[in-house]
Amino acid sequence: MTESDLPHPPTRDLCGTMLVHRRLLNESTTYRSRRAAIENRALQYERGRRSPSRTGVVTIPVVVHVVHNPAVPAQNIPDDQIRSQIEVLNRDFRAANPDRDKVPEVWRPLVADAGIEFRMASLDPDGEPTDGIVRVPTDRTSFGFDDAVKASATGGADPWPTDQYLNIWVCQLGGGLLGYAQFPGGPPQTDGVVILHSAFGTTGTAAPPFDGGRTATHEIGHWLDLYHIWGDDDGACSSDDKVADTPNQADANTGSPAFPHVSCGNGPHGDMFMNYMDYVDDDAMFMFTRGQANRMDACLEGVRASFLVAPGALSGPSRPTAGEPSARNGTAPGTAVPRAAMPGPSHWPAPAAAPGVTGTGAMGTTATGAMGTTATGAMGTTATAGATVPAQPGPDGHAGPDGEVRRLLRDSERLATEVLKEIRTVIDMVGGDRPEA
Ligand SMILES: [Zn+2]
Repeated sequence: MTESDLPHPPTRDLCGTMLVHRRLLNESTTYRSRRAAIENRALQYERGRRSPSRTGVVTIPVVVHVVHNPAVPAQNIPDDQIRSQIEVLNRDFRAANPDRDKVPEVWRPLVADAGIEFRMASLDPDGEPTDGIVRVPTDRTSFGFDDAVKASATGGADPWPTDQYLNIWVCQLGGGLLGYAQFPGGPPQTDGVVILHSAFGTTGTAAPPFDGGRTATHEIGHWLDLYHIWGDDDGACSSDDKVADTPNQADANTGSPAFPHVSCGNGPHGDMFMNYMDYVDDDAMFMFTRGQANRMDACLEGVRASFLVAPGALSGPSRPTAGEPSARNGTAPGTAVPRAAMPGPSHWPAPAAAPGVTGTGAMGTTATGAMGTTATGAMGTTATAGATVPAQPGPDGHAGPDGEVRRLLRDSERLATEVLKEIRTVIDMVGGDRPEA
């Protein structure tokens, strides 16, 4: 295949993330400066000047806001459809997806276990038990990428604290959009991802060719700071995704391309179009790379560090997805990066030990282990909060402390996290290790 065989670029934006990104860059100096700091940190990870401290799995609490128009009952998607999406995420971000076997031989060593899992929130922002699903009726017929779905004042649903929960809004989107995300560093009140209801999960209203749950995998990739694999340069080959182990690629691929597809002189193997950050159909994408996992780590240990130290949204015994533990360890050796096998002290429970380990306990331990070596002063506060905030199940099995106490503790924890972030930013700026110096 030659470069003249380039497919036509997509005639529509399947994903609105870059449109949001450019809008925020235009509107907000705060966003511009935060993005510069985030990019600087990611570059240090990319160039090996910093390494991930994390050696185990992080669990992200999820709240799904189903914003539906009662005139179209299908928009009020069933719980099963939501659960099917969480199962896909927990396979894809652990490289436990069965279709990873389709990755071309040449790229199998790059397939990465990102070490990230997702669980529906079990405590709401007031500390009350929840299933993590919020259903909100709207009179809107559809939404765009203008964030209206993210506020009750504009016909949507207000987020839960975005440093504690991954907020996912599921709704009718117009204009051919499958979804959009906000990159880290944006306004907290709009942080999260939005997914078209018929591109969400694998059952219910999910419709081919986007019924494999991969729209959310892609958008959460953005939420964890991944760019499109082609670098959004409209085929110019001049910009890439800032990850070295993904080949430079001209433009988005769509549908279900044949391997290899060469562009930007990236032969003989061509585009890594089977990457989650391309635009191909759900059943044609099945991998993140090690470089992408590294970039997600830079994000999780930087701007999204609250998810490593803030366990307030989860309580009770963890409930691994059916079949998950065996799938994690059942992949071909040497083709993934199993978190549990990575060098260094592990403060996370190994996957096989997950049942019976409380999510809150695991996360509290994480705070001490992951951060203790970097910013000791701020860490003392954060670690203490992290160990205190989790709801301890009472004799009746329900969460113990009342909502008010938990809220106060969480506020303290959030402040400590902010201080930690600022210290890290300053260290980044004055460290004498600036990549562009
Ligand atoms: Zn995208």
